[in-house]
Amino acid sequence: MFNFILFGPPGSGKGTQSIKIAEKYGFAHISTGDIFRKNIREKTELGLKVQGIIEKGELVPDELLIEILEDAMDQYPNVSGFVFDGFPRTTQQAHDLDMMLNKREESVSLVLALEVNDDEILTRLLKRAELEGRKDDTKEVIENRISIYNDQTQPLIEFYTEKGKFKSVEGIGGIDDIFKSICEIIDQHK
Ligand code: ADP
Repeated sequence: MFNFILFGPPGSGKGTQSIKIAEKYGFAHISTGDIFRKNIREKTELGLKVQGIIEKGELVPDELLIEILEDAMDQYPNVSGFVFDGFPRTTQQAHDLDMMLNKREESVSLVLALEVNDDEILTRLLKRAELEGRKDDTKEVIENRISIYNDQTQPLIEFYTEKGKFKSVEGIGGIDDIFKSICEIIDQHK
């Protein structure tokens, strides 16, 4: 089983690239952001609980994540791999993920970061705000998300580097060029 984490700041293109990776390799794509947005749209109990948090650009509490992730994985009993998009985002989540995969006699295979600087992210997310009108894409909320990423999610780079599982690629350029770089790295590790 190939357990692949696509890593990077908000707006780095994780969603776009994850879909392409999942399609090419036959992996299941699990985006925690998409799961939360669907729950918000459908006004489920979970959706009502997380809506305010997400609209402020804050992180949903760690203890809610692992169960959601495991449920999502259980919907794909026969895949040869997963692309995790937007998870883990804190060291606690990374530990929880290790424990959960361990239980399944699995482990994280590779963590690949899309490298995009803060200025480019801000520009991209402001543009997305105009196009899609996501409630968490206003300037203040975006700045909050970037700063939360820097404080809480960046430390994962060290966590996975120490395990020898961390790689990165340039996340600025054409979608297909970036996809090609990602595939080259996946192919070296499969
Ligand atoms: P982006 O990567 O563009 O910030 P996502 O779609 O991945 O957006 O996530 C949107 C929001 O959903 C996050 O800002 C956060 O509030 C919440 N969220 C998604 N994944 C997680 C996670 N692993 N832990 C905590 N909160 C999360």
